[in-house]
Formats: sequence, structure tokens, C-alpha cells
Amino acid sequence: MYEGDEKLKRLVQDLQNENQQLQSRNQVQLASQEQTVDKLEYRLLVEEQLKESQERFVTIFEKSRVANKIININLKMIQINDALCTMLGYSKEELLGTTILQYTHPDFIQYWHDMHEALWKKELPSFSLEACLIKKDKSQIWVLVNTIRFRDKGETLGYTALQDITERKQLDKHKDEFIATISHELKTPLTSIKSYAQMLSRYFDKLEDPKPKEMLLRMDSKVNSLTALIKDLVMASKIDSGKLTPRSEEYRIDELVSEIVNEFKTTVTTRRILLKRTESLKTKGDKFKIGQVVENLITNAIKFSADDTEIHVFLEKRNKEAVVCIQDHGRGIEKESLDHIFARFYKVKEAESNVESGMGLGLYICKGIVSNQQGRLWVNSEVGKGSVFCFSLPIIE
Ligand code: ADP
Repeated sequence: MYEGDEKLKRLVQDLQNENQQLQSRNQVQLASQEQTVDKLEYRLLVEEQLKESQERFVTIFEKSRVANKIININLKMIQINDALCTMLGYSKEELLGTTILQYTHPDFIQYWHDMHEALWKKELPSFSLEACLIKKDKSQIWVLVNTIRFRDKGETLGYTALQDITERKQLDKHKDEFIATISHELKTPLTSIKSYAQMLSRYFDKLEDPKPKEMLLRMDSKVNSLTALIKDLVMASKIDSGKLTPRSEEYRIDELVSEIVNEFKTTVTTRRILLKRTESLKTKGDKFKIGQVVENLITNAIKFSADDTEIHVFLEKRNKEAVVCIQDHGRGIEKESLDHIFARFYKVKEAESNVESGMGLGLYICKGIVSNQQGRLWVNSEVGKGSVFCFSLPIIE
């Protein structure tokens, strides 16, 4: 072969190689171009979806008949809708930059403020309350407030929906007045019956036959139940109308629970009431009313379990909550009743039970008190084995 041919062959080979390289580089470039186009299309799609969802949010926020506001950490309103302006009678310009507490009735400012503090400190993920607002024309309006915390571009913000409940409040007021009158009218003759019974009891002491005295004692106990029922009725009516604005004080829930358990131990000898687990936990709210809840749950545990069984009381910390549980080894509650047990006037059918039944208000009242203090009340129960009633309250660390 000639030297020239050899050179030519190598040249062709080189050119072919270079061509191949160029082709594969081209393919890589093409693929990356396609990827870029894909990415761009994807970004456009995401942006479009984001825009759509923002528009949807703005429409819902703006057009909603519920008054909406977004607040910053200083409680200043940074976004509001027309419904809020109509509700308060102020213009958007007048409201933006101010706080809702400026339009709140003085009775509700402290509690609402405390709830916000707990929300910002992450003690609560959200809260709800009922409050009275004062409009520009000085008239009053009742609202149901629901607030949640969220983060936006690194900033902590709050979203609140305010619902007008003035009409319901007025109806509640009439009902309250009615119940207050009825209970007052009932209390007066009951007090007289009780004092007559006491007088008769002294008279019967002198008789040889013990029967009249026994009957009188039974009558006295019925009068006591009736008095307790009236008290429950008044309390339930207060819960319905949201009048249970809790007193706010810091207290140790473990101390409260052990005080109550000790009181029961001295007065109830037919059951062993044991404080099984406890730890030092602080909470904020109405100590007296929470005491009533614990008492009520222990009383039920006694009422619905047999003599000589044990009642266990636990207190423990679960996440940011104190959880109190009262466990009995009594008759338990049927599955179908469990869903209704906290409803007003609900009573489990007591076919062959000799337990003195109330009006079915006790657990309803307990639930009202606990949820009024941003807690929950629930039950686990098995027929024949017993029940565990638990409630939670947010703790202060
Ligand atoms: P009341 O005020 O009439 O006692 P509650 O609201 O306290 O009513 O209780 C409602 C119903 O739940 C009662 O009728 C009772 O049958 C049932 N109940 C409550 N606590 C227990 C318990 N620890 N064990 C079994 N049943 C219970």
C-alpha cells in the first residue's frame, strides 16, 4: 500500500471518530435541552397550580360570609375580608394594623390574650372560644372564634374565622333565665321540705318503731338528689350558653388529683381507690371546675362498680398534655352507648341495675368544662370488665 493511501485512511478514520464524538455530544446536548424544557414546563405547571390555589384561597378568604383575618405575632391584622368589616362596622383601612382585642368586650380580653400566648408558645396548635365584640356603633355582637397557627415564608402567623352567634346567644339567654327561675322556684319548697324532715326526724327519734325514721331518711336522700339535679341543670345551661368563662390560674394538677383521691379514701370505704401513677405537672385554668370533673368521674366509677373492686387513678404527661385517667373494674358500657355517653340527658338503659340514676348530665357537664379549658374527655370501656375515663389538659412547662 502507498504511504499516501495509509495517510488518507487514517484521516478518514480520524474524521469518522470525530464525527461520532460530535454526534454523541450532540445527543447529550439534545437530551439536556429536552430536560431543561421538561423542567421549565414542570415549573410553569407548578407555578400555575400555585397561582390557582392562591386564587382559590383568596376567593374563599375574601368572599366567605364568615369573617376572616390573618394576624402577625403581635396580633395585628395584616389581611382581612369584607365580612369582618361588615361585622364590626369599620372600613378595611381602619381595621388593618389594629388588633381584634381593641374591639373586644373587656370581660373577654384577658382570656383571649392568654389563648394567643399559648398558641404562639406552641402549647396549643389551635384554639376556639366564644367572645363578645363591640361594633363601631357601640352595639355588641357574639362570635365563635377559631384560630390556627401556621408558618408563611419563615414567619409565624395566625388565621382566625369569626362566626356570628348573636342569635343563638339571645335564645340561650332566654333559656338561662327560664332555668334560673324554675330552679329558684324549686329550691325554695325543697329547703322547706328539708327543714320539716329534720324537725320530724327529732320527733321520730322518740318513737320505738324505727320504720318512720327510716322512711324519713330515704325522703331526705331523695330531696338531696333533687337538689343535686337542679344544680346540674343550672350548670348544663351555663355550659350551653358558654357562660363558663374559666377563671385563669396556674396550678399543679397532680396536687389537685391527689387531694381529691385522699378525700374519697376517707369517705368511701367500700372501694379501694388507688393513685397509681403521678408526676408533677402544671396547668392553667379553672382549678375548682377541673376538681369537679375528677370528683364526678370517681363518683361514677364508684356508682357503676361492685363493692371491694379497685379504682385506679393515673396522671401522666403525654406530649404537651397532662392526662388524667380514672379506671374502674365495674360493669362497663356497651359499644352502642359509647358514642352517646357524653350527650346531654343521655343515660344508659339500666335494666336490672339498682343504681340511682341521675338526669344524664354529669358527663355532659364534665366534657363542657374540659373542652372549655382546651382539653379533651374520652372513654374506653368493655362490658363486664370496666371503664377508663380520661381527660387531657394543656400543660405549662
Ligand atoms: P348522670 O348524671 O345521670 O349520672 P352521667 O352523664 O354521669 O349521668 O352518665 C351517663 C351514663 O353513663 C350513665 O347513665 C351511666 O349508665 C353511664 N356511665 C357513666 N360512668 C360510667 C362508668 N364508670 N361505668 C359504667 N357506666 C357509666
